[in-house]
Amino acid sequence: MQRLINYINPLIRLGNSKYSVNFPIILSLVTIAASEFVANSILKNPAAVGAYIIFVHVALIIYFAFRDGIRGGFITTFLAILYYLYIIESRGYKDSQWSVAVNTSFILMFIYLLLAYIIGWLKQRLDQLIVTETEARQAAEDGRARMETILQQLPVGVLMIDKKSNKVETNRHIKNLVGPIRSTLEKVQDYQFPVAFQSGQKLSLRQWPLVRALNSGEVITGEEIEYKNDSRRLFLRVNAAPIKNKNQQIIAAVSTIDDISQEKELEQRKDDFINMASHELKTPITSMKIYIDVLLKNISKHQDPKVTKILNSLRTQTDRLQEIVSDLLDVSRIQTGKLHLNKEQFRLDRLISETSEVLQGTTDKHNLIIKSKKAISVKADRFRIYQVLTNLIANAIKYSPDGKKIQIECKASGTKALVSIKDDGIGISKDQKKRIFERLYQVNKMTEMTFPGLGMGLYISKEIIKRHRGNIWVESIEGKGSTFFFSLPLG
Ligand code: ADP
Repeated sequence: MQRLINYINPLIRLGNSKYSVNFPIILSLVTIAASEFVANSILKNPAAVGAYIIFVHVALIIYFAFRDGIRGGFITTFLAILYYLYIIESRGYKDSQWSVAVNTSFILMFIYLLLAYIIGWLKQRLDQLIVTETEARQAAEDGRARMETILQQLPVGVLMIDKKSNKVETNRHIKNLVGPIRSTLEKVQDYQFPVAFQSGQKLSLRQWPLVRALNSGEVITGEEIEYKNDSRRLFLRVNAAPIKNKNQQIIAAVSTIDDISQEKELEQRKDDFINMASHELKTPITSMKIYIDVLLKNISKHQDPKVTKILNSLRTQTDRLQEIVSDLLDVSRIQTGKLHLNKEQFRLDRLISETSEVLQGTTDKHNLIIKSKKAISVKADRFRIYQVLTNLIANAIKYSPDGKKIQIECKASGTKALVSIKDDGIGISKDQKKRIFERLYQVNKMTEMTFPGLGMGLYISKEIIKRHRGNIWVESIEGKGSTFFFSLPLG
């Protein structure tokens, strides 16, 4: 029964573009037969018969045009007009009666066709719209289901927040990482996140990358955050980006969160090992140097030049070893925040002269030129600044294998002292420029060993200058040379 109602009811069939041919034919023929019966047996008045027939056919055309589109309406019209012609023929109309009946039939046909066309066209358009809308909704639902599965299966935590509602969506992984997260953050600005830290500083929620991306459109990559709750301590690597609409307005933000605790632990163990090993190496190296010095003294007494040469070379190598160990210790101090500064007032220009004099002694091929001799005073850690200068000038020498001049300049620039060391050496490419101040970064591959080194010098220099609230940077053209700059607040 329900199926029959569904079949007959045109409203239920909205959006169904399978239009029937048989049903309009059958129902129209049944109606025509019923009309014949009514005309012959019930209604005797021809005007009443005519009105009745026209009313039934108009209703039928509207029904089929709405149920089966233009074609449904046209089929009914065609059968109705055939019936009218049959009436004219079977009732034996003559002359003027005949011509009035034929004309009326034609006018009715025109009206019926127009009616069938308008209603049928509207119905077909409606069906099309409904189909397109349903398909679009289905596609959106499918896409969402697909996204949901991908989101849930991702091995990283994903957090999404909607700008209007502050509604938060998460995937399963995030719950494994930081536990369940509230599904709405009503007042993002005020909510304090009690357990997240960055560089030892407690983070409020507005400092979280996701909230920053949402509020200011920042794109954040690879930010490291320490997360603590009652039972666990995690290190997270967090990325975040805003989601914008066509008009470039932020409508939401998404963040991915990766657990790097294991990586961090490994790194920590490695740092601890380097720290321990360098401490352990310090004492034997110092002893070795003393023994070599004693030996050198004794041997020179006996004037054996060959042994003296070997011992001198041993002394140089031990010095180098001591430098490496000392750099390793500095790196470890920086990592653990234990690089302390003993600041004092001193003449930076004099320190530069002294350093360049010492380093000039290490090379015959290079000419170290100090460009200006103006008195510049700074309040800084003299030993640490000496270390920076030594590193930059030694690099300028090392990376200019063909010799030539190295120009050193020291001048005041605003509230800062500005030092530059310019060489005509191998230079640094654009890509590498960004990375040379990183820990253990070396442009040469370890296997090539064109220039020996461990990539610690610039990292230590950068940290020293940073802690003095200064800046360090490089300008360079590959193949032409580099100029390293650093600035320090004037003392
Ligand atoms: P190291 O010299 O021990 O390798 P540094 O940290 O001092 O380590 O330098 C890092 C890298 O920067 C070096 O490997 C080198 O490729 C590049 N570099 C440093 N100074 C210069 C320079 N003056 N000219 C060209 N390249 C340089």
